Amino acid sequence: EWLRPAGGEAVTIAIGNFKGGVTKTTTAVTLAQGLTLLGHKVLVVDTDPQGSLTTLFGILPDTEVEEDDTILPLAMGSETSIRYAIRPTYWDGIDLVAAAPMLFGAEFALPARQTQEPGFEFWRVLDLGIDDVRGDYDVIVIDTPPSLSYTTINAFMASNGIIMPLPPNALDFASASQFWSLFADLTSELLTKRGLTKEFDFIHVLLARVDSADAASNIVRQWIGQTYAEKVLPVEIPKTAVAATTSAEFGTVYDIARYDGSAKTFKRARDAYDTFVSHIERSVWSVWRR
Ligand code: ADP
Ligand code: MG
Repeated sequence: EWLRPAGGEAVTIAIGNFKGGVTKTTTAVTLAQGLTLLGHKVLVVDTDPQGSLTTLFGILPDTEVEEDDTILPLAMGSETSIRYAIRPTYWDGIDLVAAAPMLFGAEFALPARQTQEPGFEFWRVLDLGIDDVRGDYDVIVIDTPPSLSYTTINAFMASNGIIMPLPPNALDFASASQFWSLFADLTSELLTKRGLTKEFDFIHVLLARVDSADAASNIVRQWIGQTYAEKVLPVEIPKTAVAATTSAEFGTVYDIARYDGSAKTFKRARDAYDTFVSHIERSVWSVWRR
């Protein structure tokens, strides 16, 4: 019922929030896996030089990732399609573009090209780079670094929609607000003065790692509701010991082969992700139907 229409293209989703440790990477991987469980084919692009997402797929950034496995050649201009960097993963239905520390080089390569090539649109490199493979996937999920970097801008500009994971605590809330105002300033600086616009098909805020025992989180949850209104997804990812444990073991709550899915502790975490994934599938479908 939710299958990509013939000739349709992948819907691209960036997982973003300039803050570290807000569950961006966990959300990216779990979403990708959840979508494959619903029958979709997914490409996951790691744009964080820390390579946490790459690590979650069991690949060590320091020793098992070469420059050609990352988006760096795209950033440097030696490649124009991301296809060279795509590799299969252990997870059926997910392909990966990996990341490793050398990807920091993109932060220098992109502005350097802008200086060398007049009119070069440094923020569209990833957008143009994935064009070639949009027909091969249902969804492309892009994990981003915890900073407002050239790479992050590229991820947003390549995307139909954004998911911002946000744990309900005061500091994360404050930095998320900065995220949007900085981002709005930057896009208008980049685009408006060139007569361009960028509209997202959807922007979702995901309440993540919610600790129901934390009284303060209820207050922040209200702030989040007032600030982001209908952008807030009607689902919360609970803070669970299993979610922390699975990532320590380079997995997720969907790694059914490794973890007993019927176990009560897993069920709560997995049910929340199931609901989240089905909301996102609906958003994907609404882009296809446009
Ligand atoms: P980011 O990519 O934003 O830096 P991560 O996905 O790396 O965030 O997650 C940060 C930490 O939070 C990790 O140690 C991860 O295991 C933990 N974590 C993620 N989701 C949950 C959850 N639902 N409950 C408890 N811990 C979680
Ligand atoms: Mg991360």
